[in-house]
Amino acid sequence: MIICKTKKEIQNVLADFRNDKIKIGFVPTMGALHSGHLSLIKRSVSENDIVVVSVFVNPTQFNNKDDLNNYPRDFEEDASILSKSGCTIAFFPSEKEVYENGDLSERIDFEDKFLFNTLEGEFRPGHFSGVVTVVKKLFEIISPQKAYFGKKDYQQLAIIKKMVDYYKLPIEINACEIIREKNGLALSSRNLLLTYEEKEKASNIHKTLEEVKKALKNDFSLENIKKIKDQAISHLNSFNNFKVDYLEIVNADNLQKIESNFSGKALICTAVYVGNVRLIDNSEVVL
Ligand code: AMP
Repeated sequence: MIICKTKKEIQNVLADFRNDKIKIGFVPTMGALHSGHLSLIKRSVSENDIVVVSVFVNPTQFNNKDDLNNYPRDFEEDASILSKSGCTIAFFPSEKEVYENGDLSERIDFEDKFLFNTLEGEFRPGHFSGVVTVVKKLFEIISPQKAYFGKKDYQQLAIIKKMVDYYKLPIEINACEIIREKNGLALSSRNLLLTYEEKEKASNIHKTLEEVKKALKNDFSLENIKKIKDQAISHLNSFNNFKVDYLEIVNADNLQKIESNFSGKALICTAVYVGNVRLIDNSEVVL
């Protein structure tokens, strides 16, 4: 595996590989790598000739300084995990490499007001603007044919797909399933910030989403949706130190809240604080 830290380095390395026959797969991450990330890398390895994985904690997508400062970082461990993952090139850029002269105010001009401001966007103002900015920059540096994103960040995935359409980028966006702990907790770098007990309790997030799914399948009527949602929120809030930011049932295609008769793929999504750690999760259901 080759480790690159600058744009110049990685572009030189990629220039050697790049010819019409070499397919480049790309997996962007913020590090503190776990089996969720590895599932994306594994898929990318199986579908491409070479795989680039970036590890960059992107400051412009954090709307909260403490969250950015506390975000787990272990780049040596990440490099060691990547070296055994099938990754061809690991890219560990600095802020100055990604943002011209370290200018963190820079943003691209793509914005989808609805998708940016609902769900996560409502509670994390500016978050998606930072996400699309960094992903577009990384796409420009690496120019992969395929890129891989997890459904754990479902809204991010939907926004990246739109961004790629908007700029007509020749990159195929691939969605990967959520990888979970045995107890159902979705893997996340932020889980490292939980105590053992909190991790056990946090499995109730997934369990609650599964209960909501069952309830919706039993009786999906508009009147019932509100009742199911309210019950799920109260249930989650009843755990010590839990605080729900939102729990919503939305159309999986456009992430709009379901407010009229609906049939098709829906998404039950939630963001919950467990102590100071904000966790997100979701579950697809066909109604
Ligand atoms: P992050 O490092 O959290 O920015 O995540 C990098 C990529 O890994 C994103 O596309 C995430 O959606 C994906 N990812 C994170 N956790 C999981 C998981 N538990 N299962 C599947 N994909 C994940």
